[in-house]
Amino acid sequence: MKNIAVIGTGYVGLVSGAGLADFGNQVVCADIDKSKIKLLKAGKIPIFEPGLKEVVNRNVKSNRLSFTTDISKAVRDSEVIFIGVGTPEGKDGEADLSAVYSVAEMIGNNLNSYKIICTKSTVPIGTGEKIVSIINKHKNNDVEFDYVSNPEFLREGAAVQDFLRPNRIILGATSQKALQIMQDVYSSLYINETPIIHTNIPTAETIKYANNAFLALKISYINEIANLCEAVGADVHIVAKAMGNDGRISPKFLHPGPGFGGSCFPKDTKALVSLSEKLNEPINTVAAAITTNYRQKKRMAEKLFKLMEYEIKGKTIAVLGLSFKQMTDDVRESAAIDMIQCILDRGGIVKAYDPFAADNMKKHFPSIAYSVSWQAAVKNADAVAIMTEWHEFRALDLSELKSLMKSPLVLDTRNILSIPDLTALGFKFDNVGRKALK
Ligand code: NAD
Repeated sequence: MKNIAVIGTGYVGLVSGAGLADFGNQVVCADIDKSKIKLLKAGKIPIFEPGLKEVVNRNVKSNRLSFTTDISKAVRDSEVIFIGVGTPEGKDGEADLSAVYSVAEMIGNNLNSYKIICTKSTVPIGTGEKIVSIINKHKNNDVEFDYVSNPEFLREGAAVQDFLRPNRIILGATSQKALQIMQDVYSSLYINETPIIHTNIPTAETIKYANNAFLALKISYINEIANLCEAVGADVHIVAKAMGNDGRISPKFLHPGPGFGGSCFPKDTKALVSLSEKLNEPINTVAAAITTNYRQKKRMAEKLFKLMEYEIKGKTIAVLGLSFKQMTDDVRESAAIDMIQCILDRGGIVKAYDPFAADNMKKHFPSIAYSVSWQAAVKNADAVAIMTEWHEFRALDLSELKSLMKSPLVLDTRNILSIPDLTALGFKFDNVGRKALK
């Protein structure tokens, strides 16, 4: 059991803090966002993440998990400091590391005893070295510390389960002492025989980018195959299924759709491309995946407009689903943002609905109408665009949908509606890569 501070209490920091406490550690989650910490102290969870409330509550109750805005104290009182702050897209696609560096500075100023500084945030290769030099520059004593790169792979929507049962743990470190302590931190996972990969710091940093970029590549690849399917009259789902049966490929991440979004793939692919170009070792495949993804998002709006015969001005379009995928309230880089913007640019009227993500989308589009149910959103709508694969949209009652709309016209960017049912009910519709079956 270790005394741990997790700095940054967002999707990764909060789930990691609660998970590390569940492993038996004593954890304080620290953040500069006062309102977030206030909510957490009041027993409320600031994000929607299935199962998170239960893990947080159970560890707060057992006094293993607490929250603070006093980050300096959290550092001084802990032996292991996890950095989990955001690393958003910055200038020219590079990762913006200002939050990471300011935390490193603060750690240096508060280094009062031996500590492990461990980065969970996704940071470009070489950042570990910079963090070490910032801490060294700011510490004013000869207290020692070790640095560990421990990239996080949890998926929003399944974050708790991913953290408590990870596929593997990556520990990039040079010090045996640090590895020993990290083994204690994750001792529950050792008992479960979770693979632990010990490596050096640049390798650990590279693993995270290589991993995310590969998944993004897979998505862009199947989206382009889907577009080809439309042109040749093939069904992308059968193509993807057959590809997935090949053990060398795996069926995961071969689902066509409106293009990837979220807080990771878009910025991580750009950061990797930017870094590789700087190092004169360009990763062209990933650069192409980014371009494909940009086009795929625009292509969805083009599909909708084509279905509507380009008569958009003054027409009402119900956008169902705002988060970048189901089971999260995160709208960062969501395909719905591009869709809404394109509709508004053409003079269309948007009525949006999402079971959890509407509040986050209001920060992007404060003036559009938000409905409390899908039925309210589609009422008298000229068209519907399904942007997220929420279960409630998979189970849409198409007869009810038709009866509520002004005209039965649907763009299904997630391929979740039944083509035979849409056809039988006389819907005008489109989807991604399987139009031939209409
Ligand atoms: P987030 O935006 O949800 O949370 C970041 C938190 O850091 C916020 O609460 C913010 O207030 C806090 N913060 C910012 N500056 C701070 C500072 N100086 N001191 C203390 N707190 C500060 O971000 P996230 O989605 O949790 O991502 C965090 C990191 O983890 C990123 O590098 C991301 O790429 C990586 N990551 C994210 C996911 C994911 O699914 N979200 C998965 C794996 C890795």
